[in-house]
Amino acid sequence: MKYLIFAVMMLWAGAAQAAAVPDWAQPWKDGVVPYRIEAPLLARAGAKGRDCTGWDRWPKGAQARLACQAMDDWHRASGVRFIYDPRNRLDTLVIRDGDATTATIGHLPLGNRVTIERGVPYGAVLHEIGHVLGLMHEHQRPDRDTYLTIEPFLRDLLKTCGVGTAVCRDVRLSFPAVARVKYASDYDPCSLMHYLANQAPRHREDPRWARIFSLSDKGKAALKTCLPQFSQRAERCRKVGQKCAISKLDADVVRRFHGLEPRA
Ligand SMILES: [Zn+2]
Repeated sequence: MKYLIFAVMMLWAGAAQAAAVPDWAQPWKDGVVPYRIEAPLLARAGAKGRDCTGWDRWPKGAQARLACQAMDDWHRASGVRFIYDPRNRLDTLVIRDGDATTATIGHLPLGNRVTIERGVPYGAVLHEIGHVLGLMHEHQRPDRDTYLTIEPFLRDLLKTCGVGTAVCRDVRLSFPAVARVKYASDYDPCSLMHYLANQAPRHREDPRWARIFSLSDKGKAALKTCLPQFSQRAERCRKVGQKCAISKLDADVVRRFHGLEPRA
């Protein structure tokens, strides 16, 4: 048992880095993700069974509903399937309650999870399921500095941050450009996996976090190219870092990563 716990901890540590090291991210076999929703989330949603059946009748904002809707959206966009697993396998994706909203990256041999805090917006859960399907943060791609100008304070933190504070842990996890990626699309400012330029209140106590980057000329041109896909959506969805929908390139990358055929 001791060793199992140790192995899980190692994998979780690795999973945390995987957001920035997606070249070891693994696809789900045959594009099928076995999932399980923890009982408190099902109870809160008033679910009759243990899977996503009937999620669209569950209360809006219930964590289980958000997860089921996000899995449904990803299925429709990419072809990846999410199948309820009653057997409790080690690699089953577990959807859990928590005080933060996080996810592991791609398929891990054990410990796959999405944690959802109460009151979180739908787009945040859609983003986390993107991680489960292997996607890293778009703003951490190796070519990001061509498209973004990271604010000087954050550039400094990236150089100087040790392991100590919560801010530094966040900086080291969510902002370094990674060296290599396993798959490529054009840089996509419309990606669901991109952060907002204005990420406040990420670190409330420090007003510099009100802006973390601005788009370069190339970034603005890329944004202009990708935005028409969201032309029918609300204004908050028509900007870099939108959390309204899976972009076409997000869906393409997930599909290719899992060896699935393009959708008709
Ligand atoms: Zn993320």
